[in-house]
Amino acid sequence: MPGVWVVAETREQAHELLGAARSLAPDLGAAVTAVVPRGSATPGECIARGADEVLVLADLAPGEPFGAHLPVIEQEARGGSPDLVLFSATARGKETAARLAARLGAGLCSACTSLAFDRGSGSLVMERLAYGGAAIQKLAAPAKPVIVTVPPRSVEPAAPQEGRQGRTRELPAPPPSAVKIVERKPKEKVAKDITEARVIVCAGRGFDKREDLALARELADALGGELGATRPVTEELHWLPEDLCIGLSGVQVKPELYVGLGVSGQVQHMTGVRGAKVVCAVNKDENAPIFALSDFGIVGDLYDVVPKILEALRK
Ligand SMILES: Cc1cc2nc3c(=O)[nH]c(=O)nc-3n(C[C@H](O)[C@H](O)[C@H](O)COP(=O)(O)OP(=O)(O)OC[C@H]3O[C@@H](n4cnc5c(N)ncnc54)[C@H](O)[C@@H]3O)c2cc1C
Repeated sequence: MPGVWVVAETREQAHELLGAARSLAPDLGAAVTAVVPRGSATPGECIARGADEVLVLADLAPGEPFGAHLPVIEQEARGGSPDLVLFSATARGKETAARLAARLGAGLCSACTSLAFDRGSGSLVMERLAYGGAAIQKLAAPAKPVIVTVPPRSVEPAAPQEGRQGRTRELPAPPPSAVKIVERKPKEKVAKDITEARVIVCAGRGFDKREDLALARELADALGGELGATRPVTEELHWLPEDLCIGLSGVQVKPELYVGLGVSGQVQHMTGVRGAKVVCAVNKDENAPIFALSDFGIVGDLYDVVPKILEALRK
């Protein structure tokens, strides 16, 4: 079916990509097709969240990777002629998107944080971070289809709507894959997943020594939140695990409240904080860039200010 396709490996990806697809579909005057493996998002939930058609990928033989579905997805895309195909910008999503683009001879725009349809030119306009997050690049895709990857958690998942109708079709099993998975090892997580935290206290290079991070941890506990950090604290000083690094080379967070302690607010860090509802900062330099990006700022030495905040919270 022409229109917007989403190819999702997991339920979470399907919900998010359907959110992006639904926001574009009316402008494109297009239908939405969800391509999902059995055992992830069900056809019913995809339809409720905006799909007009659901193509269910057949079960793979044991040890076959997700990419084994490619010949079938390619064949469907050739027959269906989608205008736009969305993948999640995960390691596997990026790889599958690139391989599909190569097979179809289509353009690929990776890690697009915003997608809109420009009525004037009739083309899709996408935005992505460039130069290590220091600039936003705008791209237009005049040719079809265009394949786009969208970073996880950068779009709102589609909400279910009652009474939506759609069609479901089971796809045939793909030919045997030349690649087999011989072993799976879960990535060892040393720290908590802070991407879902409602409150984050972020420790920056303004801390003098590792032991002093106890102050940031205490504030995080008092606010019922988690501890995050900037890259110098994680990757250069190794005071905290790299999983806690927020920003371009770390994780994107979306807390209700972000408190930066001794954080200067460089773009590569603040890129990861874009989704925060309220940003607060404590920094002794009144010209620190973080203040321009904060809802509340305290100019002061964190070693004086944080104990006072803790005292006030205890009252
Ligand atoms: C390609 C690339 C990717 C990157 N990715 C990331 C990323 O994902 N995440 C990330 O964080 N960074 C990233 N960086 C690094 C980024 O550019 C900054 O260098 C980094 O964010 C700065 O961290 P900081 O604010 O902790 O340290 P600094 O920039 O050194 O700032 C420390 C701040 O603390 C203040 N301060 C000092 N003492 C006190 C005190 N006692 N009380 C209060 N304030 C005090 C200072 O005034 C200063 O503003 C990346 C850089 C590049 C080039």
